[in-house]
Amino acid sequence: MKVMAIYAHPADIIADCGGALAMHVDKGDDVVAIIISHGARIHPNKYVEEQRKENPDKSIINAGHEELIEAKKQEMQRAADILGIQKVICFDEEDNLTVPDPQIITRISMLVAEEKPDVVVMDHFSGGPYAGCHEMASAMAMSAVLRAGEFVKNLDGIDAHHVKQIYFSKVQSFNRDCLNYQGLKSDIYVDITPVAARKLKAVEQFASQAHTKDVSIKTMEAIFGAYGTSAKVNFAEGYMRYYPETHDGFPVTKYADNTDPLTAHVDYSKIRASDLYEED
Ligand SMILES: [Zn+2]
Repeated sequence: MKVMAIYAHPADIIADCGGALAMHVDKGDDVVAIIISHGARIHPNKYVEEQRKENPDKSIINAGHEELIEAKKQEMQRAADILGIQKVICFDEEDNLTVPDPQIITRISMLVAEEKPDVVVMDHFSGGPYAGCHEMASAMAMSAVLRAGEFVKNLDGIDAHHVKQIYFSKVQSFNRDCLNYQGLKSDIYVDITPVAARKLKAVEQFASQAHTKDVSIKTMEAIFGAYGTSAKVNFAEGYMRYYPETHDGFPVTKYADNTDPLTAHVDYSKIRASDLYEED
């Protein structure tokens, strides 16, 4: 199986779906990450915080465009190595995209047709005011995935590729059951407990944007711990599916089979994010 993740900035891919990507890597699957913008202007803590100091380090406050981009790229590669992501493709577009760019859509669609992923993961494109760089990235990614399914070899020089499922991350709504229709909600969870320690370490590679150990632990408990309480596991990532699913009967997952409703709340409370560091 091949998974392709398409995100706006380097850190997004690790923070939003890094756990699921690591789970697939550990199953022997291929993972390709496409990052549209370089992210130099996103959470530039290292540079802005240095400027606030009385005697700032000149090498940091004088860093230019290329250095900021390169530093972020190195952080991304280290994070990808920790999770086992085999291929990272950076487009290095500017961060301030406000409208979909046809050339970027074409570039993504060609990569989808070449790489032939079974599934694609991206942020949900209605996460913000529909005009931010994350929403733009996902709008372009969706357009590209659908276009890859319309290629005709005679006309485009490449065969069509049909992605089997698209998963949207960052759907924050908390749902105990699927009758919660007050807003978007995750309808599928990935148990990331086995790789949570690696995800913490991967997120912390983004030191330039102050992803400290404290931030990492807080996020794991507050966001992925909250998804976990819905998923009835310690830590989970929540997703929404694009295509409805077809089965040959009513599916029952192995988690539904193995979870004891009486003790689930105790079981999913066993691991604290801060405890994961002791495994090192
Ligand atoms: Zn971002």
